[in-house]
Formats: sequence, C-alpha cells, structure tokens
Amino acid sequence: MTNREAAIRVVRTLQGKGHEALLAGGCVRDMLLRRRAKDYDVATDARPGDVTRLFRRTLKVGAKFGVVIVLMGAGQVEVATFRSDSGYADGRHPGAVEFTNAAEDAARRDFTINGMFYDPVKREVLDYVGGRADLKKRVVRTIGRAEDRFAEDHLRMMRAVRFSTQLGFGIERATWAAIRGNAAGISRISAERIAMELELILTSPNRAAGALMMIESGLASSIFDGFGGREADVGVCVLGRLPKRVDFALALAGFFAGFETESAARKCRVLKLSRNLTRHTGFLLSNRGKLLRYDMSLAELKTVLAEPYFEDLYDLEKAIQRAGGRGRGVLVPLMKLRKRINALGDVELRPKPLLNGHDLMRLGAVAGPGLGQLAEELYVAQLEGAVQTAGQARLWAREWLEKHRAIDK
Ligand code: ATP
Ligand code: MG
Repeated sequence: MTNREAAIRVVRTLQGKGHEALLAGGCVRDMLLRRRAKDYDVATDARPGDVTRLFRRTLKVGAKFGVVIVLMGAGQVEVATFRSDSGYADGRHPGAVEFTNAAEDAARRDFTINGMFYDPVKREVLDYVGGRADLKKRVVRTIGRAEDRFAEDHLRMMRAVRFSTQLGFGIERATWAAIRGNAAGISRISAERIAMELELILTSPNRAAGALMMIESGLASSIFDGFGGREADVGVCVLGRLPKRVDFALALAGFFAGFETESAARKCRVLKLSRNLTRHTGFLLSNRGKLLRYDMSLAELKTVLAEPYFEDLYDLEKAIQRAGGRGRGVLVPLMKLRKRINALGDVELRPKPLLNGHDLMRLGAVAGPGLGQLAEELYVAQLEGAVQTAGQARLWAREWLEKHRAIDK
C-alpha cells in the first residue's frame, strides 16, 4: 500500500463514521502540480480521541495540537484535527490551539498554495484561500497579511524561499517585501530548523536561484555573520555549476566557496551540523585547489582518491573552475587528473602497510616520533610503487635507519 492509498483509506474510514476528512496541504499542492508528494496528510473534524479509537494502531505524537499518526501496513499517515493557532508570543510556537473547521484550518496555514484540501472520495478540491489561482500564477503568497504571518513564525520566511526554489515559483510582491523587512528575525529560529530548510533550498536543482533569494532577502546575512558581497556572489555562481543532484555537504561547500576556509567553517558552525556533515563540508572547503595539481605524486593521488568524499571534491572543483569562467581551458587540469586516475585501473588505494610498527622495531627503530616518521615515509614509498615486497621494505627501512642515525650523530 502506498502512502497515498493509506491516506485515502484513512479518509474513507473517517468519512464512513460521519466525519469530515480531507487530504491537506503539501500533497494537494503537489497533486495539482502533478508532482510526486513527499507525504500525504489528512485533516479532519474528528478529535484526536476519535482518531485513536477508530484505528487500531496509532501514535499520539502531538495530540495536544490535534495530531495523531495512524499506522497502516508499512506506512503512516498524519491525521490532524482542524485547528486554528493563536498567540504566537515567541515567533516560533503557537501558544494555544483551538479545534475548528476546515476554513479556519486553511487560514492558519502558511501559503495559499499549501492551504488547500482535497476530498479523494468526491474528487473535489476545497480552496478557501485562493491557492489554485496562485498555483496558476506560479507564486508563493502568504495567507493573510505577510507581515503578520512572518511575525507569528519567522521560519515561514525561509519556507517561502524554499517553496519558491523547489517549485520554480516567484514570491508575490508583498510577501517578498515582508521577508526583506523582517529577515533579521530569522536569527530567533533554532539552528536545526534553519539547517533543515537550507538543506531543501541548496539541494534543489534550482539551488542557485534559491541562494540568490537567500542573499537578496537579507536572510543569509542574518543567519551567517558577514555573508554578502563578492564572496557570496561567487557561491551563487558555483551552486549554478554543480551537478543536478548533490548532497547537503557539497551544496554548502558551494554556497561558501567564495570565502576563505576559516571564515566558511565559522559560518557553517552556526548551523550546528552533525559531526559527519561538519567533517564532510570541512574536507571539501579545505581541499579546494588540491585537484588542480594534476601532477601530484602518485602517493598523494592515491591518498586523495581513497577519501570517501573524493567525487564531491572533484565536482566542487569543477564547479568552481567553471564558475570562474575564462573559457574552455579551465577544465584542462581536472581532465588531466581524471586521465591519470583512469590509467590507474583498479589498483589498491590504501593497501595494508608492508611492515608494521613491530616489524620496524625489530629492525632497530625506537618507539617514538622517529618511528612514526619512518612508517609514514615507508608507506609513501609503498604507494609510489618504489617498495613492493616485505623484503624490499626491510631493506628500505634499514637504509633509512642508517641514514638517520648518521644524521643524529
Ligand atoms: P513538503 O512537500 O516539503 O513536505 P509541505 O507543504 O508538505 O512540503 P510540511 O512542512 O510537510 O510542508 O507541512 C505540511 C503543511 O502544514 C504545509 O503544506 C502547510 O499547510 C502547513 N505548515 C507547515 N509548516 C507551517 C508553518 N510554519 N506555518 C503554517 N503552516 C505550516
Ligand atoms: Mg509535507
């Protein structure tokens, strides 16, 4: 059973018990746009208690706000009681909810295109907010006065940019003006939620337009201290040159590509990314330029190729070069590097060292930094192919030790 089928089954069950039940929000928008919806949400006049009674398997995730998850087969459907939100004292969370009807539930939603319902039984769209007209015009417009709606919840400003980016829609004039006027308020939203929206903006194929909106709205500089000017413009150009599908780390590295590594890393920290994402993004930013040295040593080449993020680094460098312009020649170093890589065949990039620390000590090396240096240089010789067997390695290590003893004396 698909998520859509599961949601429709939930609607039928609720309607069968005399309730009003409709598909709601994003899935209606996507259905009308003939896009694949991420999830199918149900809105109903049934109270959370009714929902948990009518379905065998449910999760009470936010019953206080009227939200119950119904488990159907392997899927799950979010079922929310029609509600109106009131009293956003903090610009983030509604203070209280009141259970109401479909029209009022539509009015509390963020944008007209997100405010529609669909009755899959009657096959009928219920549009209380002019969503269909805005879908036709291809614009993102707040429901109600934009100033008020952004003051209630500052995250909506980023959501506007996000939907505009993902759908390729414009942002309606008053909505855009209100974002520009209130962008500074975004700093009151938690890093995690900002990062989630930013990920959706920057991983969209339309990410260059999204990044430009982030900059021109003032949202980017409100989130990242000192984000703007030529450095920010470089980021937009690089984002426009990345492959269609990218992960968040690569997109972030593109976004910050105009900045020095230290400054970019400081900006990234604002987002409180996971350790993995931080490492991944940091690797890409700090290794910019490396792949242009297509004549790097074989050991260096194998080492960088063995990095799990090598392909991302290659894509980033390619985008940086293309964004820099200056004709076809800019890709020559990367093409030469790729040729070298192809010529390597499927050679082992990170072979087991021919000798380990114990072996080296048996040859007379003393534990300490000297041993580390010997092991490292020997491993480079192994990667270069200068040393190919354990016997050769022992010879090489003995010579190394003699040479260094002579220096020490
Ligand atoms: P996606 O396809 O990315 O899931 P979506 O439109 O479904 O987009 P969600 O974040 O899943 O967006 O939220 C579901 C619906 O809830 C939205 O379509 C909108 O009607 C409403 N909504 C979500 N967040 C807000 C918000 N901050 N303020 C007002 N309404 C919101
Ligand atoms: Mg959704």
